Amino acid sequence: MLDYTFDDMKLINRDKLGNMVPLELFRTIRLIGLNQGLPMGGRSTTLTIGRKIGENLPVHTVEELLQLFEELRIGIPRILYQEEHKMIVAVDDCFCKGLPTLEEEKLVCDLEGAILEGALTKMMKRRVTVKETKCNVSGHEHCEYEIRM
Ligand SMILES: [Zn+2]
Repeated sequence: MLDYTFDDMKLINRDKLGNMVPLELFRTIRLIGLNQGLPMGGRSTTLTIGRKIGENLPVHTVEELLQLFEELRIGIPRILYQEEHKMIVAVDDCFCKGLPTLEEEKLVCDLEGAILEGALTKMMKRRVTVKETKCNVSGHEHCEYEIRM
């Protein structure tokens, strides 16, 4: 069986509808399908999916990864803090921005963190962990990840 690559995903030939789908569809898949549809908020499945996506992204540096994150319109990442084994990345305009704030302290951008984790682990050839520490839906000013490598 032939596996698709990320480059295959760019081969689009739709006459009327082009290469865009609305954000509400992405959100529906992410939050209603994965988060609400799977047991335990889909935590382990989401991690597996995100890592796999990250490993398949054609990026070789942190800069390329953050740029692609923005090109894919997931959000606009910026590095807040960086040292040898730790990095803090804020994401502005995250896909979750504008959703109603959830009452409980909840973070919903775990897939996006897992994508970063997969890409960084492959790139650095060592174990990297990415933990979401802030999220718009909890009333924070942006979404934020703590990366340890
Ligand atoms: Zn978020």
